[in-house]
Amino acid sequence: PVPVLAIVGRPNVGKSTLVNRIIGRREAVVEDRPGVTRDRVSYDAEWNGRAFTVVDTGGWDPDARGLAERIREQAEIAVSLADAVLFVVDATVGITDADEAVVRVLRRAEKPVVLAANKVDDQRTEAETYGLWNLGLGEPHPVSAIHGRGSGDLLDAVLEVL
Ligand code: GDP
Ligand code: MG
Repeated sequence: PVPVLAIVGRPNVGKSTLVNRIIGRREAVVEDRPGVTRDRVSYDAEWNGRAFTVVDTGGWDPDARGLAERIREQAEIAVSLADAVLFVVDATVGITDADEAVVRVLRRAEKPVVLAANKVDDQRTEAETYGLWNLGLGEPHPVSAIHGRGSGDLLDAVLEVL
């Protein structure tokens, strides 16, 4: 069986856009209105000749009460079925309470985590990722899921732990 990479993070950070970038197709549903991804969707992926499965997560209503709790539950399920986790945050927003809820799940899970700082569309935004070292999840990998900037380096880091 090929290894499984779960993509987790709060709504609207760009998980599905990043999944499309990783699989090289436009299949994961990207919406300006967040929360449209079904709970979990799996895709076949390959990088440097290695096959793996990518699991996109979502499916919560961002306006619902108890959002952080729903995100936490979803992250727990995704992490439990994965061999490694790609945790996505929005570098232009920084860390929110909903992000922290995911971080607590990741700390408890004994799975390798790669931290993606998404929406780093240009050099200038890259400076905003340094604060993410404070999450204690290791090196933040700046990436622009939309433009592809940094995605090769990110995938190299993922394959090192997958
Ligand atoms: P998800 O809810 O985490 O799956 O996020 P989506 O992939 O649906 O993206 C949410 C919004 O962020 C959409 O409007 C995307 O076009 C936008 N987005 C995703 N990645 C990037 C990026 O690298 N840069 C910028 N500027 N916007 C992005
Ligand atoms: Mg999504």
